[in-house]
Amino acid sequence: MKIAENTVVLIDYTLTDNEGEVIDSSEGAGPLAYLQGAGNIITGLEEALLGKEAGDKVKASIEPAKAYGERHEDMRQEVPKELFGGIDNIEVGMQFQSETDQGPVMVTVVEISEEMITVDGNHPLAGVHLNFDVNIREVREPSEEELEHGHVHGEGGHHHEE
Ligand code: ZN
Repeated sequence: MKIAENTVVLIDYTLTDNEGEVIDSSEGAGPLAYLQGAGNIITGLEEALLGKEAGDKVKASIEPAKAYGERHEDMRQEVPKELFGGIDNIEVGMQFQSETDQGPVMVTVVEISEEMITVDGNHPLAGVHLNFDVNIREVREPSEEELEHGHVHGEGGHHHEE
C-alpha cells in the first residue's frame, strides 16, 4: 500500500547536512515508525514520502522552512551567570526551559564566559538544510488506538508506561 494520510510508516534513514556530515541515523536504533499527517516528523519529509511504498528508496532535500525553521539571531542572548544560581557545572550543550513572554522555550547553552552565559532558543537544527536518505520498510493501516493517540505503538514507535 502507498503512504497516505493516517498510514503507519516504518523507515530506515540517514540524515546529513549540506556538508555531508551525518546528523542523525536510524542505524543501530532500528527503524523509525511514524503516523503520516500527524506531525510526528517534519513536514518536508512527510511531503517527500507521500505516495511512496514499502521497498522504495527516497532521497529528500529539505529546506529549513519545511524542517526546523530559519534561525533567528534575536533568540540568542547573553544572560548573567548569577541567574543560573543553584545550577552547578553548566556546560555548553545543556538545555533549559526558559520562561518568555511567548511561553516556555527550550534554550541551549552555546557559550560560557567569565560572567555571562549565552543561550540560544533556536532549535539546534534551525537554519540547517536537511538531506534524508530513506528506505521505506513497511506501510500499514493504523490501529484505532494509534489513530486516537496520533502516534505509532510498538517497534520504532511510542511506548507507554503501564
Ligand atoms: Zn499512544
